[in-house]
Amino acid sequence: MSPRERLECDVLIIGAGAAGCLAALTLAREAPGLTTVLIDRARPSRSGSLASGAERLDPDPGRADFTPADEGLAEPLFDELEPTLELLRSLGLRIGEPLPGGGLRIPGENLKGLLARAVESTDVRMLSDYFVGGLLTTNESRVCGALAFEVRQERFLELRARAVLLATGAVYGLHGDGLGSDFGPGSPYNSGAALGLAAGALLTHPNELHRPLVLADSRAPARCLLEFAAAVVDGAGKSLETTAEAELRRLLAADPTGENGPYWVVLEDHSPEAPAELQRRYLECHPAATLRWAAIDFPRRGLELRLGAPVLDGGFTRAGLGVDAERRTTAAGLWAAGSCAGGVTGKGLLGRMAEGRLAARGLTGDLPDDTGPPEEAAVDALQDFIGAPLTRLTRVGSGIRAREYTERLRRIMDDYAPDGASSSTARATAAGEALEELDDAAELLLAASHLELARALLSSSGSYR
Ligand SMILES: Cc1cc2nc3c(=O)[nH]c(=O)nc-3n(C[C@H](O)[C@H](O)[C@H](O)COP(=O)(O)OP(=O)(O)OC[C@H]3O[C@@H](n4cnc5c(N)ncnc54)[C@H](O)[C@@H]3O)c2cc1C
Repeated sequence: MSPRERLECDVLIIGAGAAGCLAALTLAREAPGLTTVLIDRARPSRSGSLASGAERLDPDPGRADFTPADEGLAEPLFDELEPTLELLRSLGLRIGEPLPGGGLRIPGENLKGLLARAVESTDVRMLSDYFVGGLLTTNESRVCGALAFEVRQERFLELRARAVLLATGAVYGLHGDGLGSDFGPGSPYNSGAALGLAAGALLTHPNELHRPLVLADSRAPARCLLEFAAAVVDGAGKSLETTAEAELRRLLAADPTGENGPYWVVLEDHSPEAPAELQRRYLECHPAATLRWAAIDFPRRGLELRLGAPVLDGGFTRAGLGVDAERRTTAAGLWAAGSCAGGVTGKGLLGRMAEGRLAARGLTGDLPDDTGPPEEAAVDALQDFIGAPLTRLTRVGSGIRAREYTERLRRIMDDYAPDGASSSTARATAAGEALEELDDAAELLLAASHLELARALLSSSGSYR
């Protein structure tokens, strides 16, 4: 068994993304007596969705609309939007004018670094490059910490805490190459939803999956581009008669096999300044895509629009870990915030951050004096389970590598949901049987290093870097 160290704290935040950083800052400012650890599988200045960029802060507090939302969950979030905006201003974020498609303009490419630096300047202890593989519970089934491994060294870390906050973001690749890492048999640990489920928390509205509108050669959201669109046309050149994002999403979803596609965004006959503006917007939204496009005369040609793969994101829909008004999950000792928490549609980036603050306050109001330790044998068993692909490689030497496992899983999901949506009962039964077979194969999963182990457990979110 790899060596294991132990670290104790009052509050453990898993995920240093938008919600996790705001939760950490709130604890540092409002509960300075508490020891807080913020842990992330990557480097917080470049981790999570936010590191991909953002061009707008959603929603504009003055125009926020969180319907539909589960009862009692939207109001506390509304109240927290304006103070969160103030906090971001005080950190030095330049917040611009409201944008036509909603939200406030921000220089989003700088935001993640700004948040990470703000947390670093507090007493919060930041641990980067630690992958959380499972939650620890007491004999009374209260969550009391987590087990992580350092991705670049052969070392496990047992974290004990009086309260744990999951802020691990959305689950990408549900129906594709990420499924194995998130919900696949044998590897239920990489997303907050899966970590929470394994510890006894419940998911809410699990069928409300979000399918983003993306461009064919990028995973950047298409919304900022649509503001420049003269029309969106189908494969026959016929206009869809709308450039509104939600309406387009509905129209493309109504053509699951792409029979009438491909769909093209035709850009407006624009002023000479428009290409530069479009490029700037995209730079804020997705730096990597913009660099790729720098060589293309993109504003003059059509760009292919697609419906992205389904995502479990409790921000676009209500699907996620079920929480109460204080963002407490149904598992004692465990809170959730951001994309991994369900209950409110349309939280936007600002709402996800505001939720981090709500959860931080919620958990400080409910900290037990002492949770009691997890059972040593249970921690050993969890470590054995998480690290099994490593030990199997050295002891047994044969089995399947993570890549093959993921491939097999992808094939099962392609058969089950070829169009990315949920499927028939017959297909579900067949997929269930195939998954059981794969479950046996998971007993033979191999990893040559902690980094490969982390990769094996990761979703295809692209957040890992
Ligand atoms: C290209 C792009 C552009 C976008 N533009 C906008 C925009 O303009 N406006 C807007 O409102 N929203 C935008 N979004 C969405 C927005 O960025 C996200 O909704 C938001 O960042 C989610 O915040 P979060 O804290 O819930 O999750 P994240 O910010 O994704 O953070 C999750 C963190 O958890 C860590 N983590 C996950 N699992 C583990 C584990 N097992 N162990 C340790 N750490 C773990 C991850 O490394 C990550 O740092 C955009 C997203 C993308 C991808």
